[in-house]
Amino acid sequence: MRYSLLSVLQQAFKGQRDWTPQWRDAAPKASYDVIIVGGGGHGLATAYYLAEQHGIRNVAVLERSHVGSGNIGRNTTIVRSNYLLPGNVPFYEKSMQLWERLEQDINYNAMVSQRGVLNLYHTDGQRDAYARRGNGMRINGIDAELLDQDQVRAMVPFLDFDNARFPIQGGLLQRRGGTVRHDAVAWGYARAASDRGVDIIQNCAVTGIRRENGRVVGVDTTRGYIGAKKVGLAVAGASSQLAAMVDMRLPIESHVLTAFVSEGLKPLIDTVVTFGAGHFYVSQSDKGGLVFGGDIDGYNSYASRGNLATIEDVMEGGMALWPGLGRLRVLRHWGGVMDMSMDGSPIIDKTHIEGLYLNAGWCYGGFKATPASGFCFAHTIANDAPHALNAAFRLDRFATGAVIDEKGVGAQPNLH
Ligand SMILES: Cc1cc2nc3c(=O)[nH]c(=O)nc-3n(C[C@H](O)[C@H](O)[C@H](O)COP(=O)(O)OP(=O)(O)OC[C@H]3O[C@@H](n4cnc5c(N)ncnc54)[C@H](O)[C@@H]3O)c2cc1C
Repeated sequence: MRYSLLSVLQQAFKGQRDWTPQWRDAAPKASYDVIIVGGGGHGLATAYYLAEQHGIRNVAVLERSHVGSGNIGRNTTIVRSNYLLPGNVPFYEKSMQLWERLEQDINYNAMVSQRGVLNLYHTDGQRDAYARRGNGMRINGIDAELLDQDQVRAMVPFLDFDNARFPIQGGLLQRRGGTVRHDAVAWGYARAASDRGVDIIQNCAVTGIRRENGRVVGVDTTRGYIGAKKVGLAVAGASSQLAAMVDMRLPIESHVLTAFVSEGLKPLIDTVVTFGAGHFYVSQSDKGGLVFGGDIDGYNSYASRGNLATIEDVMEGGMALWPGLGRLRVLRHWGGVMDMSMDGSPIIDKTHIEGLYLNAGWCYGGFKATPASGFCFAHTIANDAPHALNAAFRLDRFATGAVIDEKGVGAQPNLH
């Protein structure tokens, strides 16, 4: 069923009785042309673009739990394209452009909200770095505005501008940045892919990857063996574990990142703000809770819960920026396992094993990349060669030295 104002009204009058499940809960077939491992945002988007752009519909997405249970349903929903380095800039801008028309493309309300992303600066040096970043963006046709203190004060007057340690001098604003409702992205891509013939198979963990004569022939799963001509890995924090099944060691460490939601408030903050003197970012959800986060836990872990020391560090960052936060109650917090690459940039590439493809290394920032990641990974799998937009996201760059070491996205970022 197509969603429209008319169909919603009709269902309201009919007592909602004609709504059907969003996607088919498929059982595994004996084999597929392509298997995507991981039913997160990137895996589902890849399946959608394989079917939509390349006409490859004999595709299964295998998810060990339920759709939306991974980082796609755990992130703080921020999207932006304020990158600096050539490898990253066109890719993230493509993603922003895909976000801007996503709801029409997949006929799903993902609550794309271009409410702006404002990165604060607190020193002259940081202002110069942000001016450079903003100029780089504008040269590439991406919107960016460098604001002074008065302009920032007009947008978010309740922040502590005169903090003795970190007075706010101004900010770099990308108005086209903002937030997107994360679980709706997973559901919307799952529905759109399923409508185009893709099998979404939940509760199906991949436990092994089979090879014959140097090429992939299928996967072992908790629901039996499934054959495949091509297998794409899009398992985020579990990337190293899946790669280990074919004796690959990735330049990736898994760390926990925690997100927080406060009690509901009346509309208070209508943009996304990031603190430049620590690691803290905040926006307000449509339900009214403040959604915020900060740094990853320092040690490697596959646990989906964070450590108290890091939680305290996030709260300190928040209080330094916005002392009024101290009067709020935190309703809940949760963790997600991040696939931190060593230069902070992702990998979308073929592997040395014929028929095996890798999508990983999204660090803190893979949600914003979801549409472009799916678009490029689908192209790479369909054509056995990267798209121009992901040509720099090579797996071998850590051996060749062609790293994309962008301050602001790596393991120790100052921009979220
Ligand atoms: C707290 C937090 C805040 C974040 N905030 C932001 C933000 O504001 N903006 C931003 O751009 N990014 C943000 N991110 C990062 C972003 O969420 C991730 O980079 C992105 O979601 C990762 O891609 P994904 O959606 O495909 O991952 P996931 O949703 O984790 O998908 C991977 C899937 O693979 C499945 N899987 C794993 N192993 C197997 C197996 N063996 N067999 C089958 N399936 C398997 C998992 O169950 C999971 O569902 C945040 C992340 C976290 C945790």
